[in-house]
Formats: sequence, structure tokens, C-alpha cells
Amino acid sequence: MFLIELLNLVSEGIWRAWRAIFHHRLSKKELEILNSYFPYYSQLRPIHQKEFRGRLEFLLTEKKFIARGNLRDVSPEMSVLIGATMVQVTFGLPDVQLSHFKKILVYSDTYFSNISKAYHRGEVNPRLGIIVLSWSCFARGLADYEDGVNLGIHEVAHALKLENQIRYNGESDFFHPVIWEEYQELAQQEKEFIKSRTDDFFRERGGEDSHEFFAVVLENFFERPELFRERKPELYRALVRLLRQDPITLKSA
Ligand SMILES: [Zn+2]
Repeated sequence: MFLIELLNLVSEGIWRAWRAIFHHRLSKKELEILNSYFPYYSQLRPIHQKEFRGRLEFLLTEKKFIARGNLRDVSPEMSVLIGATMVQVTFGLPDVQLSHFKKILVYSDTYFSNISKAYHRGEVNPRLGIIVLSWSCFARGLADYEDGVNLGIHEVAHALKLENQIRYNGESDFFHPVIWEEYQELAQQEKEFIKSRTDDFFRERGGEDSHEFFAVVLENFFERPELFRERKPELYRALVRLLRQDPITLKSA
């Protein structure tokens, strides 16, 4: 018994030491990138910015960013802004770090998938635990932060929904079951509107299935929350409760 406790203490000590040595600390350059190019972060109150930086450092410690295709290296701009998008989407869910997805593969531009035999901008593979992104498409989505189209948010939203299914087998833990059900009912209705072209607030892609709808809806939730709340107040409220954050009130200005 004593031996087991001793071993536990030793392994915990090694883990802590490892984390202390290799824990990512944001450099001055990385902070500048975050402040200059990530509106969600720069609009937060200082207290939330501190929390955001802590979560980003944790994420950059845990995830492996890998350059693919003709991209030679994943630059600090890439890892910081992609990591920041993952923090943004999960910011209201403190225990969710998308731990199922350990690797982020980055291509410089759209890439050819041998499986689908088509060019892709990004995808999420739950079997391999990877998120794949085209940097040029990611950067374009972030540069226009008000049009409701954002590849990074889109793919991270896919990962979040899949992680919820994988970890909890649909019996949601980080999504409250009652609110999830409420969201699903509203989502069903909206998908019908998209298909019948009764309403064009959400782009057509959202009408494909429940995964695409969730991804498209989150792009709008973060990029144009005021308009979203005005046009779809019930769905907006359901998302605020589901993700436990409100992009409108999080802004300091
Ligand atoms: Zn998608």
C-alpha cells in the first residue's frame, strides 16, 4: 500500500516537473499576434484576457501542430491564431480542451484529399483525432470578422460536437441535456428554412445535416452576434446557454 502511494507521488512529481519545464509560455511576439489579429481576444475585459492566455498556453503545450503539403513550418502566427480559435469556441466550457483532437495539420492552401478525391479547405477526423486546416482559408475567414464565414470556427465547432459524442456517447455532459434538446428543435426548424430558402440568414451549407448546421451557426454566433440575436433570438439564447458564453456581453466596449 505504502509502495503504491509512494509510486503515485513520484509519478505525479515527474508529471508536474515535466509540465513546468515544457509548459508553453506566450512570447512577446505571440502576444502581439493575439492582440493585433484576434478581435475576440482584444475585445475581452482584462480579467478574461488573462484567463484566455492561460488556456491558450495550456492548449499550445498539449497540441501538436504539424506542417503538411508544401508548408515548411507552422509559424507562431498559425499556431497562436488556430489555438486561439479553439479557446474562443470553448471559452465558456472550462473543462473542455478538445482533448480527443491532439494534432492540428496545417496546409498552406486548399489540399487534395485522396479519400474524397476533392480539394478541401479543412476537415475534422475523429478516428485519427486530427483537425486539418488550409492556412490561407483560415486567414481569410479571420480577416473578415463580420461576414459570418470563418473556417477556423467552423472546423473547431465540428470538433466540439464530435468530442461531445465521443466522450459522452450523445449523453451530453458539457452540453446541458435540456438545453441541447431545445437547441436541436430550433436547429431542425432552421434547417427547414434553409432548405426551402425561406430565410437566408444562414448559408446553404448549414442545411446539409446537423453537423454542418452546428458549424455554420457557430460561425454566425461569434462573427455577427448582434444581428444573430436580432434575427433569431430564441436560437441565440439557446446557444448562449449551451456554450455558456455570450459574445455580445463578453466585449468590454
Ligand atoms: Zn463542415
